[in-house]
Amino acid sequence: MLTIIPHSELTLAETAEQWLQQLPGPVMIEVPGKDRTRCRIVSTLIHGNEPSGFYAVHRYLLENHTPATDLAISIASVRAARLPPMHRHRFVPGEYDLNRRFGKLKAQDKVTELAHQLTEYIRNRCPTAVVDLHNTSGASPAFAVSINEHEKVLKVAALFTENMIVTQLNVGALMEQNFNCPVVTIECGGANDPRSHEAAYQGLLKFLNNDRLDSLATKPIQLYHHPVRVSIQPNLSLTYAKQPDPNFDITLVPDIEQLNFTGLTAKQCFGWSRQPLEQTFEAIGDDGHDCLSDLFHQQEQALYANANLKCFMATMRADIALNDCLFYILKTK
Ligand SMILES: [Zn+2]
Repeated sequence: MLTIIPHSELTLAETAEQWLQQLPGPVMIEVPGKDRTRCRIVSTLIHGNEPSGFYAVHRYLLENHTPATDLAISIASVRAARLPPMHRHRFVPGEYDLNRRFGKLKAQDKVTELAHQLTEYIRNRCPTAVVDLHNTSGASPAFAVSINEHEKVLKVAALFTENMIVTQLNVGALMEQNFNCPVVTIECGGANDPRSHEAAYQGLLKFLNNDRLDSLATKPIQLYHHPVRVSIQPNLSLTYAKQPDPNFDITLVPDIEQLNFTGLTAKQCFGWSRQPLEQTFEAIGDDGHDCLSDLFHQQEQALYANANLKCFMATMRADIALNDCLFYILKTK
């Protein structure tokens, strides 16, 4: 159940981790701004293992800023985040992934209910911008994701990063919902990297403390279109090693995270599978079609890209690679 906390009733702990323990569950913190006629929304901890946004809002609140406009801060997957070991769980085991439940029909479970409450709250506030702060599970530079490339979206994204992915893939994420304003997901970089926390904080300062976002000078942003979501077929096992491991269906090279944004070259073997390619992966583009054979081929068991490809969201967390997706691919020339 989402608890609304007015800023005047907020009790902050010295450290973010202590504060996390004290929260009653998912919360929305309402901070009055200098201009009370507009509102901006910051969403954090949609995924319990992605703390940069949470650290950034804790720091922002401790510093006692008055934001340029009214502000509502969502801290969502509090239960998952504090399951020991802290910030290890994307969601509570046995429950849904919150960021796959937005736009879904009402259900009896807590997670879908929370997605509904968050959506309804944000719609009622009529915000002028929504930023949803995440981390990648693997090491990665920061990048933005949005469903469109409207100039207002680019202005918000550019406060945080110089790269943005534009996608029409529909997975049930907050970002896909229509709030009649720019909605941008920021992947602040790897979840355990202090640089990601700093990037989240620096971006947040600009996003919250500037009265006019559209008049800020920002660096040009590099756009990437039509990512392909590559996922692993159900009931397969996965490990990471330099050679194929006969005890697992799929072995991926252990430096797979190094491929994030640097790219996968055509001659580079990125893993091995005991199954034929089409029984190993699924690769769905944002037109809804499977384009697996356009992207990859298999020689014996070894897996290769057909051409130079850029990938992102690759992770060494086998549980996340198996349950959500292996990585996303961007075709490059
Ligand atoms: Zn996330």
